[in-house]
Amino acid sequence: MTKIIEYKCPACGGALAFDSHSQKLKCPYCDSEYDVETFDPNQMSHSAISHSQTEEADPLVKAYVCQSCAGEILTDINTGATICPYCGNKVIVPSQFEGKFEPEFIVPFQFDRRQAKDAYREHMEHLDFIPDIFKADARFDEITGLYVPFWVFDVTTEGAAKYNAVMTRSYISGDFNVQETRHFVVNRHGKFEFNKIPADASRKMNDQLMDSLEPISFFKVKQFERGYMAGYYASRYDVSEEECRMRIQDRINSTTKAALDATVTGYSSYSSTGYQINILDTKGHYALYPVWILNVKWNNDIYTFAMNGETGKLVGSFPFDQKAFNRYVLIHGPLFALFIFGLMMIFMTFMGG
Ligand SMILES: [Zn+2]
Ligand SMILES: [Zn+2]
Repeated sequence: MTKIIEYKCPACGGALAFDSHSQKLKCPYCDSEYDVETFDPNQMSHSAISHSQTEEADPLVKAYVCQSCAGEILTDINTGATICPYCGNKVIVPSQFEGKFEPEFIVPFQFDRRQAKDAYREHMEHLDFIPDIFKADARFDEITGLYVPFWVFDVTTEGAAKYNAVMTRSYISGDFNVQETRHFVVNRHGKFEFNKIPADASRKMNDQLMDSLEPISFFKVKQFERGYMAGYYASRYDVSEEECRMRIQDRINSTTKAALDATVTGYSSYSSTGYQINILDTKGHYALYPVWILNVKWNNDIYTFAMNGETGKLVGSFPFDQKAFNRYVLIHGPLFALFIFGLMMIFMTFMGG
């Protein structure tokens, strides 16, 4: 037996959804608005207990019964917020966010579906070699608002480094042009604190894509409340804190090195001869982060685009339409095309993050 919660409007019974503009739960039928922190979904008598029928049958799939239409809602085992495919009812599964799965923080969506659509559309309009399928309007309706689980780390490190540095100058002395080079051994030692280093904690999300959404700024962060998830999809973590900590290890090391390097100033040049870096302390926080996802299937590949739901930053790997490009080459001549191709490659590399 798995309990599910439906966020229903106390005024009219309509399905409430979190509204990114007002940052409140909003009823699409009567426009009533409710505070996320104070709204109690249990006040509605039909927010009821639901049986999970096929849970035993397939360990990777969970099934819930929609309290509004009795339709069966299938999700993967980590999904904690979803939308009934039959009636559009917003469903939250509280048990997915309890105990060790209870997030400390959540960053509520700051951009709605329309804004996400507009951002994609505008972006693609400026690209000539995007296949038409990517520009088709219907595609944009497949945009999904998803709360992605993240582990976010506060880290304290201690680092020491040695450098060989030189300072050169040249001057005229009598009949001589003097080139003077002085050599230094430079030592640096310091303690560094890094706040909120993020690592996505969902196996189904591409790590590179998620990394490219940075800065994951957490400016709009709130204490976790389930109501923020109403109307969106949400997944709980399936990558442990420890595993994410391992993943950011390299990053912590290179950031500490860069911080040490940045203090070596006033020399003509320097090179490091060794670092020693210790991590003194890490503290992981579990948070849900808003992302608009668009998957497009083309030529048997799936292209995923993502928009940071907090900052609006858009990332993704756009496909390259060879046919459109060939047509372009025929018209404009090979040299110019080659130039454009070079630019496109640079651009796509950049976009790929
Ligand atoms: Zn209502
Ligand atoms: Zn339903």
